[in-house]
Amino acid sequence: MTDLVERFVKNHKLENREEYRELLKHLEDPEAAEYVRVRAVKLRERHYGRAVYVRGLIEFTNYCRNGCYYCGINRENQRAVRYRLTPEEILECCRQGWELGFRTFVLQGGEDAWFTDERLAEVVSSVKRAYPNCAVTLSVGERSYESYEKLKKAGADRYLLRHETASEAHYACLHPSEMSLAARKQCLRSLKSLSYQTGAGFMVGSPGQTYDTLAQDLMFLKELQPEMAGIGPFIPHQDTRFADQRAGSAELTLRLLSVVRILLPAVLLPATTALGTLAADGREQGLAAGANVVMPNLSPRNRRKHYALYDNKLSEGEEAAERLSALAKRVKALGYYLDMGRGDAAEI
Ligand code: SAM
Repeated sequence: MTDLVERFVKNHKLENREEYRELLKHLEDPEAAEYVRVRAVKLRERHYGRAVYVRGLIEFTNYCRNGCYYCGINRENQRAVRYRLTPEEILECCRQGWELGFRTFVLQGGEDAWFTDERLAEVVSSVKRAYPNCAVTLSVGERSYESYEKLKKAGADRYLLRHETASEAHYACLHPSEMSLAARKQCLRSLKSLSYQTGAGFMVGSPGQTYDTLAQDLMFLKELQPEMAGIGPFIPHQDTRFADQRAGSAELTLRLLSVVRILLPAVLLPATTALGTLAADGREQGLAAGANVVMPNLSPRNRRKHYALYDNKLSEGEEAAERLSALAKRVKALGYYLDMGRGDAAEI
């Protein structure tokens, strides 16, 4: 194996952006990619054994004030069928999830002004009151420090906010001018300082992405030290300006999952729905590349198709919470087992 790849595997980091860029180039060699994959799986097993953690995903609103160019629920999309679950409906999703054995609920949505701090804090605290031992993860975009603080006090444990890209220029290719990488980084730092278990991450193959922007993503993740990382392929949505762009590749996504596992050995790393959408066995391949989390969909079945971030997004089959036993079988076939516990990040 080349010295650079060996050094990355041994030190869990490289010296600079050029070296990360080189690493990604080296991993185009299938032998090098396989070497890194095997090392990533060993690390995952050292920290988490053969457990695959399960999170129940509740997509509770697709109203959004943002205009992210890649996203099917961005505010410009007049064809999106908008919905918002009531607090009672969100609680009902949790109740169904609890009965199925879920102990972590991920409440994800667009940046919907209806969910003021007060309303969202009340949702979080009522979930925690009803299910005191569960973990609540929020994924509702950029909010103020004070807002994150109120939500933490209400009982939220974790927060997912992908940084999307750590390159200023690339960020501007993906977002309207009122959004900035600086604001997003500030949110991530606020979340960390409030002791949320924090998730950052990026899409693979988003328009304008290069090995150089990915190198910056890897350096940013190393510096931030998030407890979770969301890495999934970009998939175009027909009603966005990126409708005719190519989807990211499953292979590169898998390589990056392995790289991120080595970079942050104890990170909680989902095999994403987008990866499962792109390749029939994408979820399994993700787990075999170093991922250790799956997030079945617990949203009401009649709403799932409306949370359309990209075309053909999976929400049925083993992606659906009610098909947990089918998912468990597929995971078992890989030599792993589903762990329904809270699955907090391991200490290293
Ligand atoms: N509003 C919250 C936020 O911005 O973090 C949470 C919802 S947002 C839709 C969740 C994630 O979906 C984004 O971080 C983005 O990476 C991903 N996403 C959006 N559009 C996508 C696309 N076309 N392909 C793949 N992933 C996409």
